[in-house]
Amino acid sequence: MTNISPIPNWINGQEALPESDAWLEKFNPHTGELLYHVADSSVADTQRVIAAAGNAFPAWSEITPVKRGQILTEIVAAMKQRAEELADCIAIETGKPPQDAKGEVGGAILQAEYFAGEGMRLYGRSLTSGTPGKYSHTVRQPRGIAGLIVPANTPIANIAWKTFPALICGNTVVMKAAEDSPGIANLFAKITKEAGLPDGVFNVVQGRGQVAGAALVEDTRVAVISFTGSTGVGRWIAEVAGKRLARISLELGGKNPFVVCDDADLDQAVHWAALSAFSNAGQRCAAGSRILVFNSVFDEFRDKLVAKARSLKLGVSAGCDLGPVINKRQQNSILAAIATARAEGGRILCGGAAPTERELANGYYIQPTVIEGLQPSAELSCKEIFGPVATLHPVEDMATALKLANATEYGLTAAIHTRSVDRAMWFAQRVRAGVANINLGTFGSEPHMPFGGFGASGNGTREPGAEALDVYSELKNISFLTRSNLI
Ligand code: NAD
Repeated sequence: MTNISPIPNWINGQEALPESDAWLEKFNPHTGELLYHVADSSVADTQRVIAAAGNAFPAWSEITPVKRGQILTEIVAAMKQRAEELADCIAIETGKPPQDAKGEVGGAILQAEYFAGEGMRLYGRSLTSGTPGKYSHTVRQPRGIAGLIVPANTPIANIAWKTFPALICGNTVVMKAAEDSPGIANLFAKITKEAGLPDGVFNVVQGRGQVAGAALVEDTRVAVISFTGSTGVGRWIAEVAGKRLARISLELGGKNPFVVCDDADLDQAVHWAALSAFSNAGQRCAAGSRILVFNSVFDEFRDKLVAKARSLKLGVSAGCDLGPVINKRQQNSILAAIATARAEGGRILCGGAAPTERELANGYYIQPTVIEGLQPSAELSCKEIFGPVATLHPVEDMATALKLANATEYGLTAAIHTRSVDRAMWFAQRVRAGVANINLGTFGSEPHMPFGGFGASGNGTREPGAEALDVYSELKNISFLTRSNLI
């Protein structure tokens, strides 16, 4: 695969080499081989991308939302037409099995369709007034340049999640692609051009977070920063972009609780627990990595979950359950976290290492890992791992389950398995999480549902859903006075 050309930036509807002439290496997570080089954009490169988005803003913001929606609908059609190419690109860059890559593209297209439709629904409110003859209504207006910073875990979904609401509101975009999924951002940019999006409306800067990403956050021309990534970087962005009063949307990490009650359908609970913990190789902000199980069913659930985890097939071919993690650094950090868990008294029930089979040995794989015996306060019980690793904790009753579920700085998603409506709703009402699921996994929402977290999982904004429009638009209240003496 090393014959693929390097991935440059995308400025004003075309590829642009970085003037830094510096390049990063992107490796294939399945083979560990060099896949291609990626622009290592400098601050000056990033500023050029921002300038292009600034130049395109006046014309794009003047187009009516309905017309913008029509253009976005053309992008949707092009994405559908090139769905296979998008999925292939995701599969090679992330090591996702093909059915997962296709599923992700399908999800991104749904997002895009939903927000294209918002062109005809960019509603405001009409308001009454205390003054006779005065009429008021609100309108949504674009903010300007949107700086969108995404991780590599679900690359096209992350791009669609932010790009479509930003564009429908009339902003222009600088996308900071993730270091490990540069190709998908480049391919998406080409698709937008072919579908008729005016040049400069969607731009991509490739490169390192601390350089290109930081330059985007610091630039006073960028009116909105929407960031999905780790809580540490999110805190820094809140400080820096907050200081200059930019609009900020932060979708951050999670350590999501999955509760199994004594009246749960255990087979269903095991099915959803395995999906929650291990799908996408655990690289999900919503991963169900803390499994809290009632004492009386603990042994039975544990044995079934371990059997399920052992049955999962690693690899990149069709039908495999999980692929590798995204890079060598991430693989090493997961292995180090497992070593710490062992040292803290954790019993590794399955997995706990990189697989040794020949076809997987060079990739960044981690076996699906289940650990018991850790204190709820142990490092691995609290820290987000972003890999296929789950800890099991026994609980006595609902009160203890809720207490442990909430014993985290995060608050993104939570799930409970029970046959009791009373227990389910009691828990869902009280758990500190932006998403509470009953008899499901710790999965996010659909395109029209808000997603986001409490506490260290975000800053209170919600994307996607209609709530995303609040991130990307300014509200203006317009009033006018009619004169009854002139009729
Ligand atoms: P990361 O924070 O290291 O990087 C995410 C993106 O931010 C990348 O594009 C990176 O280049 C950029 N970045 C890094 N430092 C930056 C800086 N100083 N300024 C500007 N940009 C910078 O995160 P990651 O390891 O790539 O992704 C995993 C994290 O993302 C996990 O914590 C996960 O929970 C979180 N995540 C959250 C959601 C959500 O919706 N809440 C979804 C997916 C992933």
